[in-house]
Amino acid sequence: MSDSSSQANRQARTDYDALIIGAGIIGAATAWRLQQLRPDWRIAIIEKEQSCAQHQTGRNSGVIHAGVYYAPGSLKAKLCVEGNQRTKAFCKEHRIAFEECGKLLVACDEQELKGLDQLKLRARQNGLEVETQSAQQLKQREPNIAGLGALWVPASGIVDYAEICRELLKQFGEAGGEIYYGHELKRLRERDGEVQLQCTSSLSIAHTDRQSQIFYCKQLIACAGIQSDRLVKSLGLSVDFQMMPFRGEYFQLLGEHNSIINHLIYPVPDPTMPFLGVHLTRMIDGSVTVGPNAVLAMGREAYKKTQFSMADIQQMVSEPGSYRLLGRFWKAGLGELRDSLFKHSYLKRVQSYCPSLKVSDLLPYKAGIRAQAVDKQGNMIDDFLFAQSEQCLIVCNAPSPAATSALPIADHIVAKLDLNTPA
Ligand SMILES: Cc1cc2nc3c(=O)[nH]c(=O)nc-3n(C[C@H](O)[C@H](O)[C@H](O)COP(=O)(O)OP(=O)(O)OC[C@H]3O[C@@H](n4cnc5c(N)ncnc54)[C@H](O)[C@@H]3O)c2cc1C
Repeated sequence: MSDSSSQANRQARTDYDALIIGAGIIGAATAWRLQQLRPDWRIAIIEKEQSCAQHQTGRNSGVIHAGVYYAPGSLKAKLCVEGNQRTKAFCKEHRIAFEECGKLLVACDEQELKGLDQLKLRARQNGLEVETQSAQQLKQREPNIAGLGALWVPASGIVDYAEICRELLKQFGEAGGEIYYGHELKRLRERDGEVQLQCTSSLSIAHTDRQSQIFYCKQLIACAGIQSDRLVKSLGLSVDFQMMPFRGEYFQLLGEHNSIINHLIYPVPDPTMPFLGVHLTRMIDGSVTVGPNAVLAMGREAYKKTQFSMADIQQMVSEPGSYRLLGRFWKAGLGELRDSLFKHSYLKRVQSYCPSLKVSDLLPYKAGIRAQAVDKQGNMIDDFLFAQSEQCLIVCNAPSPAATSALPIADHIVAKLDLNTPA
């Protein structure tokens, strides 16, 4: 390479102390925390969409979980319980609307009553205050809900996570952080103490729709949600999991039903599945949603039933974990598909605890896609999972309750980095 071209190359370099992939709530919280700890570092976020919170963070139930369900001692249990308190404190400090409305887990048969006892035990092991409610107490709290009994979880709340994400990014920007929207990370290379990132930009520069741009950094943190396995692969690290997209479809109740519930109403979940079941959720804007179900999506960003991605399907069918998972859960999967296709069938799940609802009460609402890591044996990985090389840290599995847990997850990530590197 001639001197002049290598000089031009050097000039074209964009160097950072740390780069974060993804402007969802985990990327935003991590960037915000890192900027606080190292205000002298040059830090940027690279996000493929034109604004933040376009995927899981902006398409969820908005529940501030308390930590009832998660295995004692797991990261989920620890970071959710802490995240519940810290999310509320963050909202108070920055005047973000939230409500500590509490939640009722409702048992509709004897089997589910036994399930409630298990959940009560688990919640107490996780340090939560919960209370069993008789059918009569449930009726007093929730006249429109029917059940044999319930578990009352007062610490659960509601918020708009996209708003928290925007606030974190605002503060990150005010402290000197940079954000590249419309930039998609395509290739990663870690060599000689630095990470090279090749990105395409969807911003129209010099009449070209997609420009390639190279970034360099000393530390890379990828919070890319459903794309995490691809980033692990591109780093050359061994990948013993794959991401699978489970679409969570919602309905919104007609406005006249906004007062149908006083708290969050959840069914007793199937202990063999990581999903919590179709629930009635009071949203922070005053509306009530029903959902989400969990249907295998035919693309990682296939938010509509008719959408699919051949590349994503090809990758899914080439992985042994998909077959094994589908082989084990084919019956549950077909049930989810039926409920997704037929509104009557979907509604039956809610009518088991809210019998007055009718099909005509359900309005369309945006769906979300859960990014769920599945191992090669076809098990859904339950806990939060991270992969790390010398200079890169990748968030591999951050499903629910990761929005609740985002602030402590950011601390957990930052504690794994070398913060002593000079700027
Ligand atoms: C239906 C549903 C309901 C849920 N309900 C709750 C709830 O009530 N409470 C709760 O605590 N949690 C809930 N969750 C989970 C929660 O929403 C997620 O755990 C959390 O939002 C994960 O945040 P994230 O930043 O990791 O991912 P995301 O929000 O998905 O963000 C990842 C970002 O990375 C970007 N990206 C990906 N690849 C690239 C690339 N190559 N280059 C540049 N950018 C890239 C994406 O565009 C995206 O913006 C729910 C999730 C779903 C789907």
